[in-house]
This record gives sequence, structure tokens and C-alpha cells, in this order.
Amino acid sequence: METKKRERPAFNRDIAAAMKKHYSHTQTRTPLAHTLMSSNPLIEVAYAAGIQPSFPENYACVCAARHASPAYCETAEAHHYTQDLCSYCRNNLGYTHLDDGEPVNGGIGDPDLLLMTSSACSHYFKWWDTLHEIHQKPMVFVNTPRVMDPQNRPDFYIDFAREEIKAAIREIETILDISISRDKLARAVYQSDRTVSYWQKILELQKSVPAPLGLSDLSNALFVLIVLAGTEEGADLMEKIYQETSVRAAAGEGVLDRNEEKHRLLWMNIPFWYNLKILGYFEDRGCAFPMSDYCQYIWGVTRMDSENPIEGLARKALEGELNTSLDAHIDMLIRDIQAYGINGVVAHSNRSCRVLSVGLLDAASIIREELGIPVLILDGDHADERVYSEAETMTRIDTFLEMLGG
Ligand code: SF4
Repeated sequence: METKKRERPAFNRDIAAAMKKHYSHTQTRTPLAHTLMSSNPLIEVAYAAGIQPSFPENYACVCAARHASPAYCETAEAHHYTQDLCSYCRNNLGYTHLDDGEPVNGGIGDPDLLLMTSSACSHYFKWWDTLHEIHQKPMVFVNTPRVMDPQNRPDFYIDFAREEIKAAIREIETILDISISRDKLARAVYQSDRTVSYWQKILELQKSVPAPLGLSDLSNALFVLIVLAGTEEGADLMEKIYQETSVRAAAGEGVLDRNEEKHRLLWMNIPFWYNLKILGYFEDRGCAFPMSDYCQYIWGVTRMDSENPIEGLARKALEGELNTSLDAHIDMLIRDIQAYGINGVVAHSNRSCRVLSVGLLDAASIIREELGIPVLILDGDHADERVYSEAETMTRIDTFLEMLGG
């Protein structure tokens, strides 16, 4: 697929450098903790404790983007992990089992510790449990209740999450024979909150016409928001991203220029990491993606007060789209489709991520009926390109673009 080469915002180079550094740290620093990416309060705790977090899900995205994921998925399947499992999980278990001499980005080291939370999909329990068995390393787990009605969340949920985090901190201290000072934790929460505050401002700027950033820029910035949460480096980098975005917005500069941007689309679910070129195909036809539920609703939704770090982390553990109801998700979509001036939706029915795909068809029909805007459904998988059909996808996209008048 040929797409026009466009100048991307300069911050993408800084993110690439930060990513390279992170992967080098995951190969050299100890103690290393495999850490779940979903709104996980133990990321900030890890940085405060001097633990290097590593993220198997992020590594799966990197592998998918370099087309290394199919080999890892096949290895996992050969070890009897079913194809029904999320491809992030199969990628990681395949990577763990395959003696790959030249892994992408040098790979990630073996963990000394496993840090997880329950605020996402049920895959995680068995996945982290399997890693626990394979590596024979301790697993620390923050259990949080499922929040079905975010507007009426009972206060005792926060109390419960707070106690869980305190217990997790005590457990980490015992396992590693360290002490995590309140001061260090407060500093990590402060930096994490700084990162979130810039991120939220960036999302606000995305309402500008033309949209200053594209979906691949936002997806790249997620690395900073999630992986570097709690570090000064991450907060400084997010500030830099915000500054560049704000200059672009003020100058009316976007991925497309004002005359080129004919359609503003919403991307639902995780992108095809192995085929981000598809976004360029849309751009070449005048379509910008100012927002996506995946980028906007899962992370960076919780502001935290560093004076009350555990309280802030407890709220982080309970919030985010992976721990909410479908009704709340649809309400947010309806609100933001209007706020961002969206006139079409591309919804990825993702074979791997059921959490984000269950209810996708309901959301699509509500959007069509209530807002009268077209919704394109694309079947695929975020990391396993073996189940993706380029021909079928492109046929559907071209039909959708015709309908949009592109
Ligand atoms: S199924 Fe979705 S939430 Fe669960 S690990 Fe995969 S991508 Fe993450």
C-alpha cells in the first residue's frame, strides 16, 4: 500500500529515543518486574521503589509492528496455548518459550517480580499466573472491584483499593527487602499526575481543525503516558509533546492541512499495529483521526494528588475504560463524537481483545441511529496479522469512503 510521506511531529523522535532507552533498561536493570499496562497503580510504585518495570503488552505491540508477532504466536500455539487467547498474551508466551537469538529491540529480560492488577480482562490472571509458574518469581496483585456504574461508585471501593495497594507495597518491600518511602511515592505520583495533566491538554487540542496530531502520534504518546508513568523523564517528555501540539494547533497545522481535512473520524478499539500504514491511506483521502476510544478512555483519566499518593493510586486502579460498563462507554463516545466534530467511525472488531470488542456492534448501531453518522466495522486483530485480510479490509474501506463522499 503506497501512502504519501508526511512530516510527523518532531516529538516522535524523542519518543523513539525514550523507547530505545526503556528497552535497554529492561535488558540490563534489576530488579525487573513484568508489569501489566492496564491502569496499574503498581507502575508508579515500581519506579518509586527503584524497580525497573517491563511491559509484555508493549513488547507485543513492538513485535507486531516489526512483523515478528506471528512467529511468537505460532510458538505459543505449539505449546498448546489456544488461538482464542489474546495475541499480546500469545506473543509474550511464545517469546518466553522461543530461543530467539535476535529478538526485536533486543527483547526484555526475565522478571524478578510480577506486578498485576485486576482492573482489566480475565486473560491477565492466567497469563500472569503462567509467567509466575514459568519464572518461579513472586507475583504481587492488586485486586479491585468491577465498577459497573462510575457515576455512583461507592466510597468503600476506594477504601478497598487503598488497602490493596498498601498491602501490595508491604509485600514488595518484604520480597525485595527494601523500604519504599512515602516521599518517593509522592514524587512518583506527582510526576504521573503531571504527565496526565499534559496528556489531557493534548486531547483537548485535538478538537482543533485541522487535528494537530494523527492517531499514530497519539498511539506513540501512549508509551510515555503508560510506560513512563511516575518518572520525571516521562512528565518532561509529555510536556514537550504538549508544547509542540499547542504550537501546531495555534498555527492551524495538522497532519492534514485545513483544506485537506475533509472528514474527522473516530477509531474504535486497538489499531492494527502491523499495518499502521492504513491510517496513511485514510489521510491521503482527507480523513483525520482526532480521537480514539483506545487512546482516550483507558489511561490518563485520573488526576492524582501527590499529598495523598495512595488515594490517588487507588482511584487510578478503579478508573479507565477497561473497568467500566458498556453503557458508560457508549455515553462517552456519544459525548466525544459531538465534541470532536466526528462525522464517521471506523470500528475494529478485534478478535483478540474481547473487552474492547464486546458491545462494539451495539455501540455502532446506537451511533448510527442517534447521531446519523456512518460506522465502518473492520475485522482483524491488533497483533496477530495472520487473521487479517488486506483485500477484504481495503474493499470495505473504499466502500465506506465512497459513502462519506471522500
Ligand atoms: S484482551 Fe484486551 S485487555 Fe486483555 S490483554 Fe488483550 S488487549 Fe489487553
